[in-house]
Amino acid sequence: MSKIIAIANQKGGVGKTTTSVNLGAGLATLGKRVLLVDIDPQGNTTSGVGINKADVENCIYNILIDDIPPHEAILETKIDGLNIIPATIQLAGAEIELVSTISRELRLKKALGLVKKNYDYIIIDCPPSLGILTINSLTAADSVIIPIQCEYYALEGLSQLLNTVRLVQKNLNPHLQIEGVLLTMLDARTNLGIQVIEEVKKYFQEKVYRTIIPRNIRLSEAPSHGQSIITYDRRSKGAEVYYELAKEVLSYE
Ligand code: ADP
Ligand code: MG
Repeated sequence: MSKIIAIANQKGGVGKTTTSVNLGAGLATLGKRVLLVDIDPQGNTTSGVGINKADVENCIYNILIDDIPPHEAILETKIDGLNIIPATIQLAGAEIELVSTISRELRLKKALGLVKKNYDYIIIDCPPSLGILTINSLTAADSVIIPIQCEYYALEGLSQLLNTVRLVQKNLNPHLQIEGVLLTMLDARTNLGIQVIEEVKKYFQEKVYRTIIPRNIRLSEAPSHGQSIITYDRRSKGAEVYYELAKEVLSYE
């Protein structure tokens, strides 16, 4: 059984890309076949697994707009079992171009349906907006992981995200579930983090992952080396917690 998980939150900088890359790498290292789908025009997941965007021939844009078969855009990464559909800046035009396309919300779902059987997990890294690209992702997904940064205003904006999830459930994908809520970038030296954890747990209850991602400098260094934390520094705290998260995600299979 394969599962498609969207990593979504319209706030930027909450750890969507870090989680996509490192959860993907963690699951692949645990023996799962994983496809990352970069659907953010910034393409940080693409460069984060060591792909030079200038060399990308086909990206998610060509799948969504030009209707190319998805396997023509899939690339291998340095990690065994971890593939990616890359994004380049070309994707920035897609929000507008999709507006006039037939069944514009269903394009990613249709494409991933063609390769789903080849993977245990497909992880979609969403852009920081609730536009048509995120809607495509939520429509294609079985479930959504919501990363929340342990900071002031952590819950701000979440009602819009949850509203979008409900709208997608109602109109496009009744079977969409919340896979889990992931607390990220916890600074263990402050009380604030503890307060945010309590607040988020009160709100999402058993949906909150036991694994909490702390701030870890190695996690922020890895992308500039085009590596997941697992290849960049396997002994770091960052690698340890993303492994834990991968195991926790597997335990809810
Ligand atoms: P998003 O995709 O939601 O915009 P990112 O995953 O790109 O967020 O994270 C934003 C920034 O914070 C990046 O520079 C990333 O390297 C850094 N970062 C993410 N998670 C951590 C962490 N746990 N510890 C330290 N830095 C982190
Ligand atoms: Mg990102």
